Amino acid sequence: MSKLQENLDLLAGHLKQFHGRTLPHRINGEDVTSERVMQSRSPVDDSVICDVAEGSASDIDAAARAAQAAFPAWRDMPGKQRKKILHAVADAIVARADEIALIESWDTGQCIRFMSKAALRGAENFRFFADQAEGARNGQTLPSTDHMNITTRTPIGPVGIITPWNTPFMLSTWKIAPALASGCTVVHKPAEWSPLTARLLIEIAEGAGLPKGVWNMVNGVGEEAGRALTEHPAIKAIAFVGESSTGSAIMRQGSETLKRVHFELGGKNPVVVFDDADFDRALDAAVFMIYSLNGERCTSSSRVLIQSGLYNRFVTALEQRVNNLKVGHPLDPATEIGPLIHPRHLAKVNSYLEVAEKDGARIAVRGEAGEGDGYFVNPTLYADATQNMRIAQEEIFGPVLTAMKFDDEAEALAIANSVAYGLAGYVWTNDVTRALRFSDGLEAGMIWVNSENVRHLPTPFGGTKASGIGRDGGDWSFDFYMETKNIAIATGQHKISKLGV
Ligand code: NAD
Repeated sequence: MSKLQENLDLLAGHLKQFHGRTLPHRINGEDVTSERVMQSRSPVDDSVICDVAEGSASDIDAAARAAQAAFPAWRDMPGKQRKKILHAVADAIVARADEIALIESWDTGQCIRFMSKAALRGAENFRFFADQAEGARNGQTLPSTDHMNITTRTPIGPVGIITPWNTPFMLSTWKIAPALASGCTVVHKPAEWSPLTARLLIEIAEGAGLPKGVWNMVNGVGEEAGRALTEHPAIKAIAFVGESSTGSAIMRQGSETLKRVHFELGGKNPVVVFDDADFDRALDAAVFMIYSLNGERCTSSSRVLIQSGLYNRFVTALEQRVNNLKVGHPLDPATEIGPLIHPRHLAKVNSYLEVAEKDGARIAVRGEAGEGDGYFVNPTLYADATQNMRIAQEEIFGPVLTAMKFDDEAEALAIANSVAYGLAGYVWTNDVTRALRFSDGLEAGMIWVNSENVRHLPTPFGGTKASGIGRDGGDWSFDFYMETKNIAIATGQHKISKLGV
């Protein structure tokens, strides 16, 4: 039996839990349905997987109240105990990692070769933040002449977490694990196009011993359920991953209740290849960072800037690689590009072919939509683009790379920084002085030199400009989910000004 068939058989078993029912919300440890339903369809063949409850403002209100009621006990639970529960969540994710990966592939179109790792990374996220739960309240002592200042941190309260459809399982764990480790309670609103693994995740957490109401999940569309979450007075902060324009909307919606916000938004990330770069490694990394995960990845290297001495050779090598990419069924381990998430997104990605032609770019590899009912698209390579073209400025979020030429470092920096976004950058050079100088000038929150995106969880993750506000990872996540308090204690009889004597 082929590995694809084996995966399809396993998937069929796992999907039974979703068939013949409406996927409910999970509020205070109970399944809750709504009057209205939406459908979850597979991008592979456009088949309906299941109906999903479409949450309203009153569902969000019930979830927020549950999170509020559960907050004091969760906040006051010793960090050691919270750590134990979060490690149990990680163990249970590992135990169900194959199931999670298969369901995520079917629900999102992402290839199984990447989703297996993403499920395990979800467990790592829980372990990493679990290990910090005991020390999360720690602060500093800052002695002054007459006072001893002591800082402590306390969890901010119930928080809202809103996630997108690209690698939804991993991203949900990345946001939820530190919130729980901090002592916050959670209302999660998963993306409407990929609701399945959010359900598995909350089931796993409850099974691992998470008390009722600490984590609640409401499905629904952004403009209704998402909006209600951002406006709810009991919700103290919103951690959001998604499009930059949605970030702006959330900021407006949350302004009345003075929400603290953390935004991880879009990107148009450059990979800059200088003449002295290691050609083969730079090529591998550039191809991997845009064509893995269907190009539906915030840190994708969607622009490649190549120095003139290497340009023609590099673009020719790119063309060969892109023509060789294996587009196909995401559950086939050989597949490198699966179907895109939704027909609307497919239409958006394809619309850039016309845009590129009109703007005068060369379409080195033309990725037309695939055949059949699925939302398949072949990969595209645009070459000889210039900085003002839309394909060089806008986030396409598909398997689409835009190649541009530069002559010197100053020109490369000007092109790299000419976009609204500033999430990630990739620099390829063997000149360490230039690598440091260039990275220093690059407007991006994260820069990798002679590397692709290799994550180290203690490091800060986040973007500048339209790519985000705030940082995740390490202690940065705790700073967002916690309030810092300073306690100043007089150490003697310092002079206090007397008034009214
Ligand atoms: P999106 O902004 O359309 O939706 C994200 C989430 O926001 C969904 O759950 C949606 O229902 C909700 N939402 C929509 N409108 C809302 C509103 N008015 N109020 C509250 N919630 C609302 O994004 P998407 O298309 O699902 O995801 C793709 C985007 O996410 C890309 O731009 C990508 O770059 C970005 N992203 C960024 C990072 C990062 O770390 N910077 C990571 C992954 C994805």
